[in-house]
Amino acid sequence: MTKSRGYPSILMFGGPGSGKGTQGVVLGQMPNLVHLAMGDIFRGLDKESDIGKEFLSYSTKGQLVPDELTIRVFQHHVAGLIDGGDYQPDYHTLILDGIPRTVKQVELLEPVIDVQALVYLVMEDKDALVARLAGRAKKSNRPDDADRSVIENRIEVYERETAPVLGSFPKKLIRKVNGDQPPLAVLRDAAGCLVGVVSAKI
Ligand code: ADP
Repeated sequence: MTKSRGYPSILMFGGPGSGKGTQGVVLGQMPNLVHLAMGDIFRGLDKESDIGKEFLSYSTKGQLVPDELTIRVFQHHVAGLIDGGDYQPDYHTLILDGIPRTVKQVELLEPVIDVQALVYLVMEDKDALVARLAGRAKKSNRPDDADRSVIENRIEVYERETAPVLGSFPKKLIRKVNGDQPPLAVLRDAAGCLVGVVSAKI
């Protein structure tokens, strides 16, 4: 089924506020899964470092960080996890959240990851999405969630740059999950469609 020999990976896919982060964190608690969220990796950078400053210059406007830099930061982070023993590629499957996010990133990651399935959280209700993101801003300390125009820009960037990523993968890898459901129902459906994908490694 797969041609590359990169890190076995499942992609969580959906717009900002679709709940893929919440779901990814829970799924990442399973013994043979490791959850990696690109936004968290960026937010974990030292804010005073050049890369940290560069990240903020994009994220505070709701823009994406350039592709090459994103992939470099991702690979550096994964190498650190392997060195520290927190991620063992022979044992774990990665649950990737927020990467790849452009068609170019799909290309750059081709030799790096081996995509086994893509869980696509489909959100039909746009108003609920904006309300959810605005609500999150109050709970978290995220400048990119605070402002309605930034939120709308992120949704627009998602539709323009990220939605086309779906077309880069064979349809048989894509598992659609209704993201308008309550979180537990989304979890049930997301976990259900991954059972056959990762069970061989348990
Ligand atoms: P959300 O999914 O709610 O937009 P994230 O935490 O995934 O939030 O991302 C926050 C910010 O980090 C993005 O707006 C963007 O600036 C940057 N970012 C995250 N992932 C990527 C990526 N794969 N490519 C480029 N920029 C990214």
